[in-house]
Amino acid sequence: MEFATFADRAGTIEAEPADLEIVAHVRDLLADADDVEIVARFVQGRVFPAWDSTTLDIGPSACYEAIARAAGTNVSADDVEDRLADVGEIGDVAASYEFGGQQGLGAFTGGGGGTGDDLTVREVAETLDDLAAAEGAGSQDRKVDLLFGLFNRCSSEEARYLARLVLSEMRIGVGEGTVRDVVAEAFDVPQDRVERALQVSNDYGLVARVARDEGLEGLDAMDLEVGRPVQAMLAQAGTVTDALEEWERAAVEWKYDGARIQLHHRPASDDDGNGDGESAGETRVFSRNMEDVTDALPEVVEYAEETLDVPAILDGEVVAIDDDGSPLPFQEVLKRFRRKHDVEKAREDVSVRPVFFDCLHADGTDLLEEPLTARHDRLRSVLSTESGGESDEDVEGLSLLWLTDDPEEIESVDADALESGHEGIMLKDPDSAYSPGRRGKHWRKRKPDVETLDCVVTGAEWGEGRRATFLGTFELSVRDGDDLETVGKVATGITDEKLAELTELLEPHIAAEEGQDVDLEPAVVFEVGYEEIQRSPTYSSGYALRFPRFSGVRSDKDPEDADTLERLERLQGQ
Ligand code: AMP
Repeated sequence: MEFATFADRAGTIEAEPADLEIVAHVRDLLADADDVEIVARFVQGRVFPAWDSTTLDIGPSACYEAIARAAGTNVSADDVEDRLADVGEIGDVAASYEFGGQQGLGAFTGGGGGTGDDLTVREVAETLDDLAAAEGAGSQDRKVDLLFGLFNRCSSEEARYLARLVLSEMRIGVGEGTVRDVVAEAFDVPQDRVERALQVSNDYGLVARVARDEGLEGLDAMDLEVGRPVQAMLAQAGTVTDALEEWERAAVEWKYDGARIQLHHRPASDDDGNGDGESAGETRVFSRNMEDVTDALPEVVEYAEETLDVPAILDGEVVAIDDDGSPLPFQEVLKRFRRKHDVEKAREDVSVRPVFFDCLHADGTDLLEEPLTARHDRLRSVLSTESGGESDEDVEGLSLLWLTDDPEEIESVDADALESGHEGIMLKDPDSAYSPGRRGKHWRKRKPDVETLDCVVTGAEWGEGRRATFLGTFELSVRDGDDLETVGKVATGITDEKLAELTELLEPHIAAEEGQDVDLEPAVVFEVGYEEIQRSPTYSSGYALRFPRFSGVRSDKDPEDADTLERLERLQGQ
């Protein structure tokens, strides 16, 4: 397709206010385009597929420079910038100049060896590929030359859309959803199959071409590819109560406080078994936004090389650790995550380790449609270095998973997660498929506590084992007039160090003891978070805090200042 035709159609789409009409125009555009792969990207303002983290790496001023050179000797980059300040939009500025006929190095570098005749979308795409690939000394000049060569062959309307494309400001009202729907319509294939093909490939251009040339069969044959990132499945906030109601049982995992990674690994192999078809291994690590972060995380590459002996795509989190292997806060990971220089030095200060919780592909098989539990089993097997027999705890880099319908067990996983320095827990539907890019209900991060309550500590229990000398499991009460009524017990979110402190604080107030149980005079007030307040006959207030968590001692408050039953009732009603 000629770039002039593309620009003309883009103009029509931009001027069209009605969504339905836009869809019709885009459908016609894709149906008419011989280079549908390129046009499907350009119309969304993309030069490269969504999975490809290649950038043109050209700033606005280089673009102004190229426009100025193509516009004639009496125009400077500053003039272009001034005009932009007046007009406000780079497309309008580019379209306001007369281009063509300027001589210079770039005039001969229009991709397909431009001869001054009509520019095609393919020539634009190929030149932009060259432009992106230019690196090292003199690369900025080369980029400007290449872009000048393109502008020099543009009419005003072509220049309008070229400038916008290059500066990622296409904005003609065509989003991903439009292109998805249009591909289905234009090439007469079902929308859900287009959607699936997009999920595995992340490439609207490729999907459009396959739909046109190979139809449904071709689309269905599209698979994940090791090395080509897919969008990460996302979580929404949710409660334990909802999760158990909807799924009956939940897969519970620790929520690691790090940065999301997707690992793509292909081990080195001798392809045909006799040694002469050897291929080198390849490991790439991508961020949640599919940026290539491999070079910043050598530990993850080393881990993959040591552990994986089949091609695999794994989903996980990279966490910063201290010398003992305990997790460090998220900010520490950030110091490493996108680092480009002095990675080895940075690694001496903060080291990282990967933890994987999902397996999207293993040894030639895509697993997106498999239930979570089956994917986790496959994950365990690809990460196990011994043949079976290891418990999950012993498989390095494997996130643990508890399958349960018991709220108490979930609470104790949560307590362990917090105590081990993690963020909390994730709740996942054990039967759910992996849905790339979806923030669905199948993965839930446990909602952070909305409100806190200040409760009087009226009882406790002596611990067991290594905690035998500590008070723990604290009974909480609220005020009701002059009385205190119980609302629950908190044992979660407290480190051993804190328990020792609390024991020291509470021991002088012990009023009675029987076995492990201790009654306390009202003296100390705890601030506690909780997931929700439920009516319950278990406690004298008639209410129970679901998943209460210790968040601190209110040393500034006396029992008389603690929260009341009335406030509890009000919060419960909200
Ligand atoms: P948020 O960033 O608060 O939306 O929480 C979701 C993020 O938690 C994911 O994108 C992951 O980076 C991270 N995460 C940590 N542990 C897990 C886990 N076990 N499963 C899924 N995501 C996790």
